Amino acid sequence: MKDEQVRMLTIASSVLSLVAIIIFLASSKGEFVNISAQASTTNTYVGADLYEQFETMANEKRAELEEELKKYLRIKLPENTKESDIDIQVSYIKQTMNIRMKNKDRSFMKTNPTVGSCNHIADLNYYQDKQEACIDIQLDSVYEYESSIQDNQLVIKFVDPHDMYDHIIVLDAGHGGGHPGTNRNNVLEKDITLHIVEYAKELFDDDENIKVYYTRLDDSNPTFDERVQLANKLKADYFLSVHINSNEQSREPSGTEVLYYTSDNRSKNFAQICADEESKALNSRNRGITTGDTIYIIHNSKVPVALIEVGFLSNNNEFGLLCTKSYQKKAAQGIYQAILSAYEEDGITWKE
Ligand SMILES: [Zn+2]
Repeated sequence: MKDEQVRMLTIASSVLSLVAIIIFLASSKGEFVNISAQASTTNTYVGADLYEQFETMANEKRAELEEELKKYLRIKLPENTKESDIDIQVSYIKQTMNIRMKNKDRSFMKTNPTVGSCNHIADLNYYQDKQEACIDIQLDSVYEYESSIQDNQLVIKFVDPHDMYDHIIVLDAGHGGGHPGTNRNNVLEKDITLHIVEYAKELFDDDENIKVYYTRLDDSNPTFDERVQLANKLKADYFLSVHINSNEQSREPSGTEVLYYTSDNRSKNFAQICADEESKALNSRNRGITTGDTIYIIHNSKVPVALIEVGFLSNNNEFGLLCTKSYQKKAAQGIYQAILSAYEEDGITWKE
């Protein structure tokens, strides 16, 4: 790290400890405040001497520091709060953060307002849940975060996932919850797609080169918009949705087919790779690629998208196969291989 960077960081942390913008105004009616609307008042409360420094900084550095400051949220804590008293849960699909503090009373927050200058927050809401004081935060995008306790404050830094991971994809298990998709003899599409994605997760978990965000890993049913926005907001390299096909008229059709966005060549290439790799992994008939332009998650995707129809529940042979663990695992292997091949075609490879 260069000296200049060290100095910048020192100044940044000094300023941070003094920046105290009241962004949460406790009211008797309920604490609900739009933080981003107040983020522009940042400078007002900086300590006088540091503010002077801040003022005389070269504009470029000042902008840099201001940007840095906007990544932080600071929440005052009662004395002696330990890290183990605090639980933070993030939902990437909902873009929310839930902070729970054990054995704390929400009234503490009324007299000790949350401070910070964070510009990644759309809304923030306090409530009491039994013995826990809770904060729900609606973020404006998908973030990773770092947290620590400093001077009785919970300091949360929001981090752009691309600052953490070089290669990001989004994997979507089709359907879920009250929308089971196609079905046959009580076998539901939503369950098979989830199993395949879970097996794929085992493979990706062992691969530190690729970070995968999942639209669901349970029986939830995110909206189409939530699914595609996860990929868009993450600026994912690839967005792959997993489905199972069915033909109402005939038991005949079988094989693997992939839908793509016709106005995006990268989507087309990606879909072709998925069709080739998946049919190879499954030894299924390769039905090739076809337009998916009318499908919401396809025409709203800003990143290369493919929707893979692994096989047909309506086909007797494939119905039997799709119900087996081994076939689902092969499908997962095909998906994993498709992602590796897609990166390889982009000129990105990894050595063992
Ligand atoms: Zn489907």
